[in-house]
Amino acid sequence: MSVTGLPPYDDSNVFARILRGEIPATKVHEDDHALAFRDINPQTPVHVLVIPKGRYVSLADFSASASEAEIAGFWRAVGKVAKDLGLEGAGYRVLTNMGEDGGQEVPHFHVHIFGGRRIGRMVP
Ligand code: 5GP
Repeated sequence: MSVTGLPPYDDSNVFARILRGEIPATKVHEDDHALAFRDINPQTPVHVLVIPKGRYVSLADFSASASEAEIAGFWRAVGKVAKDLGLEGAGYRVLTNMGEDGGQEVPHFHVHIFGGRRIGRMVP
């Protein structure tokens, strides 16, 4: 098991395949540490996923195992993507699902950026 309680990193997960270019994605940003692309099933007018390029299962794995440069680069990219998508003025939501109880489906750490409409208060 990884530090998250999830299974170890699986290179066949769908985001690993997107990173390798094996399946298409609508990319909105890419740099040394992060890739951002549109969610295939958007829940808001703007729904983008940001993933680190490294092999991290979840937030717990990423925060425990990634280098300072990877962590800084990833979170800078999250902010830049939201800004470049024009979301800063009206606001937006950043969310990560962690593990089974958190509802995580894809076992490669990612954050969701939701925006483009008013989002109600979080109801788990
Ligand atoms: P999770 O529940 O793991 O936080 O969310 C995974 C997200 O990945 C979901 O919102 C789902 O729509 C999205 N997703 C799953 N498969 C694909 C895919 O092949 N391409 C893209 N762009 N998004 C995907």
